Amino acid sequence: MADQDSGAVREIRINPIVPSESVLVATARSMRPRKAEDPAPRDTRLHVETCPFCRGNEDKTPPEIQRVPPQGEWQIRIVENLYPVLGDNRGSAGLVFGLQQAIDGYGRHEVIVDSAQHGIAIHEMGHTHLQKLFSTYQSRMAQLYEMDERLQYVLVFKNFGPAAGASMAHTHSQIIATPVVPQNVHDEVENSRNYYKKHHRCIFCSLIDEALTFETTIYDRNSGRIVRKINVGQYVIERGERFIAIKPFASRYEWEVHILPLEHGSDFLDASAEDLQDLAQVFQRTMARLDAVIGGAQYNFFLHTRPRSEEFEDCRASYHWHLEICPRTSIPTGFELGSGLFVNTISPEQAAEQLRTVKLV
Ligand SMILES: [Zn+2]
Ligand SMILES: [Zn+2]
Ligand SMILES: [Zn+2]
Repeated sequence: MADQDSGAVREIRINPIVPSESVLVATARSMRPRKAEDPAPRDTRLHVETCPFCRGNEDKTPPEIQRVPPQGEWQIRIVENLYPVLGDNRGSAGLVFGLQQAIDGYGRHEVIVDSAQHGIAIHEMGHTHLQKLFSTYQSRMAQLYEMDERLQYVLVFKNFGPAAGASMAHTHSQIIATPVVPQNVHDEVENSRNYYKKHHRCIFCSLIDEALTFETTIYDRNSGRIVRKINVGQYVIERGERFIAIKPFASRYEWEVHILPLEHGSDFLDASAEDLQDLAQVFQRTMARLDAVIGGAQYNFFLHTRPRSEEFEDCRASYHWHLEICPRTSIPTGFELGSGLFVNTISPEQAAEQLRTVKLV
């Protein structure tokens, strides 16, 4: 590690998949540009009489699209979004998406009530329930693609806690289906395709291999001197039979963690029931670690998978689907907004070690 003696790191790290996203890792106290937010107390109530997402208040939500299981007491519900960002009707207000690409506001915006239990956190949900949740994401994504061929991307995401932008306390995730591929996904797919053309390997698979390799040494190009040794195995947070949770080397957020399938696959929709079972376990343990270290984690997570558009038909071998978890422990500063450079005040190596070693009850 850079400054082994003082334990401080101060360097710019380039995201290997999306190079335009770089991170300034600055752990020295003097570099701290902002104060971390105090974690807000979590609403842990199991049932709230006035909450439209709680069981018994089904008539207070927008129209229901689906429930799981279809009969008996529901465990998961999909409903229309009361305040959709995008609507079914064409010709609504223009929407700017990515590179000044204006499209009309056509699309779908739906809410998935993750659980009937109001304030339950992901790490408190059982593996079976989480597996059901992932399989609900999967089936709804497939249905949306089938319903309308103009839809090019279905983004599944979750905001948990006010710091992450959640407006409802009841645990829920969201689906937004758009007629364009969001710029972030576009960049990832495009850049990994370019990497594949050059190296004949999936960059995500390479990063997983690197994370599993125990140690790497970086030499100075001119003198051949050892600049530093990185214990790369240290980026692994959790490992299941089929999935791995990794702390990215260039983490934008202090506690950011990505979960990827160990076996290459470009499309989340191809994941089998066994895959989802292992994913549920790795995800649940990762969230428990985050909760134990941060205490009441407020976070966003989202799924990145190969878009359906023809443009990316050839990306089966080069793209690798994954889940990105971004806990929100601070607010972006003017420096970050102005420079586009994320500032991370905890080195990913230290964060990974804390996450890996924290005792789970
Ligand atoms: Zn509720
Ligand atoms: Zn891969
Ligand atoms: Zn991604």
